[in-house]
Amino acid sequence: MTMEFTDRVSRVEPSATLAISALATELEAEGADVVDLSVGEPDFPTPENVVRAAKEAMDAGHTGYTTSSGILELREAIADKLADDGLDHGLENVVVTPGAKQALYEVVHALIEEGDEVVLLDPAWVSYEAMVKMAGGSLTRVDLSDYDFQLEPGLDDLADAVSDDTDLLIVNSPSNPTGAVYSDDALEGVAELAVEHDITVISDEIYKEITYGVEPTSLGTFDGMADRTITVNGFSKAYSMTGWRLGYFAGPEDLVDQAGKLHSHSVSSAVNFVQHAGVEALENTDTAVDQMVEAFRERRDLVIDLLDEHDVDVAVPDGAFYMMVPVDDDDQAWCEGAIEDAHVATVPGSAFGTPGYARISYAASRERLEEGIERLADEGYL
Ligand code: PMP
Ligand code: GLU
Repeated sequence: MTMEFTDRVSRVEPSATLAISALATELEAEGADVVDLSVGEPDFPTPENVVRAAKEAMDAGHTGYTTSSGILELREAIADKLADDGLDHGLENVVVTPGAKQALYEVVHALIEEGDEVVLLDPAWVSYEAMVKMAGGSLTRVDLSDYDFQLEPGLDDLADAVSDDTDLLIVNSPSNPTGAVYSDDALEGVAELAVEHDITVISDEIYKEITYGVEPTSLGTFDGMADRTITVNGFSKAYSMTGWRLGYFAGPEDLVDQAGKLHSHSVSSAVNFVQHAGVEALENTDTAVDQMVEAFRERRDLVIDLLDEHDVDVAVPDGAFYMMVPVDDDDQAWCEGAIEDAHVATVPGSAFGTPGYARISYAASRERLEEGIERLADEGYL
């Protein structure tokens, strides 16, 4: 039998980041020693106290369904965290999800339908485009690559791109894939445009805890933004909990009601004992997070120095653990060659809407980063 598939799924590709990581794993299974700088995944173990909290929760019998939007203790801890960031959300404004990706998926599908316009700041994380396309939305992309990936100098371009027809803008600071942290002036500019054109905004703050000497402000705190911003965050990156699948969104009550329907009819809830571990992560991991962030900062500096030795200049990232390295115009071919010849896995910039670059994730050990850059240089890729 030939199955017929929906336009909805046919118009998107599998996640490029996950696909390259899968290829790296495949090569490794064949015996190759691959330096995997592709997927954005901290190489640290989840902090011990978080693992313990999950085990204790399991032992205590927290293994059944939870309230669809998440256990009270976790939503309380999330509301407290958001309050620290200047965002005023009650428990009824928070939905706990299996990963920030699911949070984004639910919010995009609650807001966007056939023909709606969504604006992205490029380069933008791969799954925004796919989620919008699956929802039937059309994309308008604002390229920030001429501005060292900063938003402030690109505000005029954003102003040209948005209109009263724009339904949604997605902002991700610190950014995946650039590591750029947008200034308060830039966010102020976004807020003014959002208010002027009555645009809803998703602020994806999953890298907020991972910054180097700058303090990113939450977009929802700017004038006129509280009732038009949905703040998304997750535990994967700051607490090294990628496989636990835990995230959340917080926003106005009507959005929570609508997106909450998608949530309850699809995943029901996030995993019960994982939610208990999430409380521990939010409340008792400051030291562990600081240590991981310090290690990322050292690795960032190391990679910048190593690239500089090969006369490769990059825009210095102030957050997350990615950087965009300028490569050949045909970045796809460059990345394919790099993995085949040097066994170094990176992600082509074109997957993020910006050809001519490769994204490196420096959430790898110093030794692997040194090895990876050396191999790229030896094989003529730098
Ligand atoms: N947003 C951004 C910008 C990301 O890089 C990721 C990474 N996967 C996510 C959301 C989703 O993270 P997760 O589902 O692991 O919480
Ligand atoms: N967000 C990470 C990345 O960009 C993890 C993979 C994914 O979910 O796309 O590499």
